[in-house]
Amino acid sequence: MFIKTIQQIEISSRCNLRCSYCVHGNDKAMTRVKLDMGEGTWRAALRWVEHFVRQGTQGELNLAGVGESTLHPRFPGMIAEARAVVGPYRDIIFATNGILVTPALIEAIKPFQPKVWVSTHQPARAAHAIQGLKDAGLIAGISMDGALNPNDWAGQVDWIKPSYRFPCPWLTSGHGFVAASGAILTCCLDVTAGSALEDVSALPRSDVKTQPWHLCKSCYQDVPVLIPER
Ligand code: SF4
Ligand code: SF4
Repeated sequence: MFIKTIQQIEISSRCNLRCSYCVHGNDKAMTRVKLDMGEGTWRAALRWVEHFVRQGTQGELNLAGVGESTLHPRFPGMIAEARAVVGPYRDIIFATNGILVTPALIEAIKPFQPKVWVSTHQPARAAHAIQGLKDAGLIAGISMDGALNPNDWAGQVDWIKPSYRFPCPWLTSGHGFVAASGAILTCCLDVTAGSALEDVSALPRSDVKTQPWHLCKSCYQDVPVLIPER
């Protein structure tokens, strides 16, 4: 399977919380560098998205990764630039803990119609974001996955092992994940850059292979049997 869509661009790999069920709450888990995506990396990531838009294979674009995207000082501008690249009909989504989602931020992103998931890690701090996004028609949903659909990041954090399984969309649908550092990863759970395939600064192309890596062995998502591990 080749990567045919940039599913996620990690605008920031930093977070302003340290939830105990997350790699940000476990110092040894997140060994990738924590930073806001630089301007050159962002431009390069959009070139890859543009490539797959031209190929007709780009799907929705998620502007969040393993971190809190609203920490990036240029976040609203990045939503606008992503909209210009994906066009009016593809969804732009992101998840946030809501802490930095102010009325001013909502006004700034509203013209570009992202769909926003708010995670209720701290309900009292997320409440204003939820209400404001609802009023603006931007809310996609409210997540309580830490409690309702827990997982242990494929064994990377000490938390409840999931009781559910589903096919891994990363390996079955050709998804690529651009980390804040610029590495193109094959896995949204990759906090070590161990699944890195390519650097986003390379010219976009359609022959980048996605395939299982060692974390798949402990993952709650099912790997297609025909794809060999690298
Ligand atoms: S808010 Fe999200 S990214 Fe940040 S520590 Fe909590 S679960 Fe992790
Ligand atoms: S560890 Fe493997 S199976 Fe799990 S999400 Fe990542 S690529 Fe998919």
